[in-house]
Order: sequence, then C-alpha cells, then structure tokens
Amino acid sequence: MRFDIITIFPELFSGIFSHGVVKRAIAKGLVDVRTHDLREFTHDRHRTVDDRPFGGGEGMVLKPEPLMEAVESLGVAAKTERDTEREQVILLSAQGARFTQSAARELARLDRLVLLCGRYEGVDERINQLACDQELSIGDYVLSGGELGAAVIVDATMRLLPGVLGNEDSSAYESFGQADGEFAADADGPPRSTYGAGGLLDYPHYTRPAEFRGLAVPEVLAGGDHAAIRRWRRERALEKTLRNRPDLLEKTELTEADKKYLAGLKSAL
Ligand code: SAH
Repeated sequence: MRFDIITIFPELFSGIFSHGVVKRAIAKGLVDVRTHDLREFTHDRHRTVDDRPFGGGEGMVLKPEPLMEAVESLGVAAKTERDTEREQVILLSAQGARFTQSAARELARLDRLVLLCGRYEGVDERINQLACDQELSIGDYVLSGGELGAAVIVDATMRLLPGVLGNEDSSAYESFGQADGEFAADADGPPRSTYGAGGLLDYPHYTRPAEFRGLAVPEVLAGGDHAAIRRWRRERALEKTLRNRPDLLEKTELTEADKKYLAGLKSAL
C-alpha cells in the first residue's frame, strides 16, 4: 500500500517512520510511505503557503493552489473520476469524522492513500470540496497541525496489512478487535494472547517476573486451564471496558454470561 503525506514539515516524519513495525514494513516493501513538502508547490520567492482569512478573524489559512498542485502531482485520479475503493485523498481536520479502528480497517483495503496535513487555522475549504474524499479527525481535541494525525492513520492502517505484523492474529485479537463470532473456530483452542477482542478493550497482560514489587501475576494465568484463562481474560476485558469505556459495551455483542458478570460488577459499585 502506498501512502503520500503532504505537509509543510516533512522532516517531522523521519523519526516516526524509521522505527519498529513501520520501519520493517517499509523495509519489506509492504508499504511505501512518501512525504511531500508543500512549499515545493509554490511559485513565489517566499514560498508562501498561507494567506489571511476572508471574513476576518485571527490566524492564517493554507492557500488552495499549492495543495491542489501537490495532490495533482501525485498521479491520483481527479476526484470526480476517482475509484475510492482503490485510492482516497483524506484531509486531516478537527472537523472530520472520527478516525476509529473500523475506519482503519476500511482504509487498509485501499491501494493508495493521500493525506493532507493542515496548519494554522486550517485549509481553504475548496480543497476539501475539490480534492478530498473524506475529512478525518483523530480525536476531540485541536492539534497544531495534521502531521500527528497523518502519522496515527499511517500507523494504525499499515499494521492491519497482511504480512506487516509477525502474527496475523495480533491485529484481530486486541482492543476494538473484530467480533468474536468471526473467530468462533478458536473457542476451544489455546487462549489467545489477546482474547479481549470483540468490541471490548483488551484485557491486562503480564510477563515475568511472576512477582514484582509485592504484586503477583494472577494465579489462573500460571496454570494450564485454558477455559479458566479464557474466562478470566473475558471478565477482565469486560471490567476494564465498563470502567474506562462504558460506551463500547452498548455496541458489543455480549453473551448471557457476560451480561450476568457485568450486572454483578455494577451492583458491587
Ligand atoms: N480552526 C480549526 C483547527 C485548526 S488546527 C478548528 O477549530 O477546527 C490546524 C490543523 O491541525 C488542521 O487543519 C488539521 O489539519 C490539524 N488538526 C487539528 N486537530 C486535529 C484533529 N483532532 N485531528 C486531525 N487533524 C487535526
């Protein structure tokens, strides 16, 4: 999959993409990540990318011409002819739809993604109209630029691509994972390293030492009773989701046992 990022700060990405999973995916040729300096698409001596807002108010706005030229230089189809199942141009914006794990799964089906990073007060709206298929926000807060958002989207999308993670299952069995129903086949297998999936948050993880600063690893995990481990993990995932993200429980398919367990937790509160 190819990612192109249009930004006034291309050097911001060099550190992020030269470590860990992203670095390995690039080295293996599974992804191609390119950054493009918006100033390369200006034609004045000062390489001006911004201008004052129509209608007044503070701040500056990214001008449309350099952004449009930058997008057009990348060889993606014009918006009206674009096959958005294959390629998309996305504007990073605090006004965008929320980027979620399911949005990442959708994007991971594409061959190509172009990400436009705003700065200052944002981007001239006509760029959104003329060039972009979606506006995405990485959360309900305002950042100073779209670069961190673009890095978040590249990272979350890329790790879902086949071959990027050592173990394919890692990205199915984790927080916000796919529905357990799709993986019913492993209900009897060894407990997954991340069985908290199915719309719930992941359960807590432990490694050695068995005792650390007076805290022991939960006993059940040291034993070989797979059914007990699975139950323990499911219950911890339910507990953590209830505590930190009760909104997710509304959207999760819960079993009768899950509901009973949650009712017990709630009545103990
Ligand atoms: N005036 C805008 C904020 C501009 S912040 C507003 O109130 O909505 C400058 C740039 O940072 C934006 O153009 C966008 O590209 C980026 N940005 C800010 N917050 C973001 C968020 N939550 N998600 C993604 N990009 C964001």
